[in-house]
Amino acid sequence: MRVAIIGAGVVGLATAHALLDRGHEVVLIEPGAKQGRPTDGNAGWIAHTDVMPLASPKAWRNLPRWLMDPLGPLTIRPGYLPHLAPWLARFLMASSPSRIKASIGAIRSINAESLPAWKSLLSSLDLNGHLRENGILSVWRHQGEFNRSQDIVERQRGFGIEAKALRPEELAELEPALRNVEAAVLYPDACHVSDPAVLAADLLRLALERGAVLVAAHGLRLEPREEGIHVRTDGAEAEVISNRVIVAAGAWSRSLAQQLGDRIPLDTERGYNATYPKGTFGLNRPIMFEGEGFVATPLDTGDRVGGAVEFAGLEAPPNHSRTDAMVQRLTGFLPHLQTETPAKRWMGFRPSMPDSLPVIGPAGKDRRILYAFGHGHYGLTQAAVTAQMVAGMLEGRSGPVDGKPFAVQRF
Ligand SMILES: Cc1cc2nc3c(=O)[nH]c(=O)nc-3n(C[C@H](O)[C@H](O)[C@H](O)COP(=O)(O)OP(=O)(O)OC[C@H]3O[C@@H](n4cnc5c(N)ncnc54)[C@H](O)[C@@H]3O)c2cc1C
Repeated sequence: MRVAIIGAGVVGLATAHALLDRGHEVVLIEPGAKQGRPTDGNAGWIAHTDVMPLASPKAWRNLPRWLMDPLGPLTIRPGYLPHLAPWLARFLMASSPSRIKASIGAIRSINAESLPAWKSLLSSLDLNGHLRENGILSVWRHQGEFNRSQDIVERQRGFGIEAKALRPEELAELEPALRNVEAAVLYPDACHVSDPAVLAADLLRLALERGAVLVAAHGLRLEPREEGIHVRTDGAEAEVISNRVIVAAGAWSRSLAQQLGDRIPLDTERGYNATYPKGTFGLNRPIMFEGEGFVATPLDTGDRVGGAVEFAGLEAPPNHSRTDAMVQRLTGFLPHLQTETPAKRWMGFRPSMPDSLPVIGPAGKDRRILYAFGHGHYGLTQAAVTAQMVAGMLEGRSGPVDGKPFAVQRF
């Protein structure tokens, strides 16, 4: 089949390879890495050990504290509130105990297959060198907060995920630079990548070498016709005609789905980061600072602190005082950190669904068009398994994960 993929972020690129593996003809429609696409600036975690949706008791517990602080981990810009209302209503609905349980089950089902899918993709392309298997640490400033998070850790263990509570001397041995931490859990099987932007560049280069064609344009209009799907673009090639279309335009996917009659509550959680020269943090592995809303990753290309959630849409300019506030909070854990060292600051758009589940599957009215977007905080983690699911759906066979919880019909 000739398949057009709208969006060559990490999800679109992984999907391109899954389709090329199966002998399909691939056309990537991509204007050229939109500014703020999270594929490039994410924290680089393959966080397959995570199981909780955003709408979790943990988030609700922290919410009042976070919202009180204008530069805290979660902010809604007041002017954006009316736009966000439908998303927030869905988020509230997703917070009931039964819905949280369903989301946890679905997240686990997809995350459990995420690392095997990445390993298979990377080794087939000879890109294994991008994977760093040093584990990931979660740390808590206060023992009391750790105690309140025990249910999450126990739930992870219940899924067979190794979560090793560390004694202070064990933590000091693993991460001697860390201070002011009262509790820590090591996830030895979690991993990260060398640098997400470098990985994406390699995936694109190899897809083109394998025969994928790049149409440098926005996919603007989708017109399903009997002979095929017509994608109108703003590029030199004004129309791309194919047998199948995959919509993988991240946070920019909503208007494309809307043309097909699917009203999907996709919004963006804007995230911020600062990347310092390699070695600045003195950390040996990625660290989640629990309850603080940020993580730190020693990437091959620099040390990155990132996180925060800001609801302000796709157009508002970044507010880097949020990045500065995050760096300031990090110095509480890494007192040696010289914040005047020049850092590269960045803001990007997570494609976020209120139930923390991506949309993967056919459009409501035309099964020749498939969606693969809305991966929120886990798009890097879930890209390779999403690609396998999409390839299975496209060919009408079952993939590695039951697609039902991710179908557009859930709305
Ligand atoms: C601060 C931060 C940290 C994160 N850390 C992690 C992490 O550690 N691990 C993890 O798993 N996830 C992480 N994420 C989330 C992850 O980065 C995203 O979920 C993921 O990048 C989404 O990938 P995507 O390909 O769906 O979308 P994008 O990366 O947004 O790519 C979409 C592509 O579509 C293109 N496009 C847009 N509109 C059109 C159009 N009309 N036509 C054609 N092309 C179009 C864009 O140019 C872009 O290339 C993080 C996100 C942020 C913001």
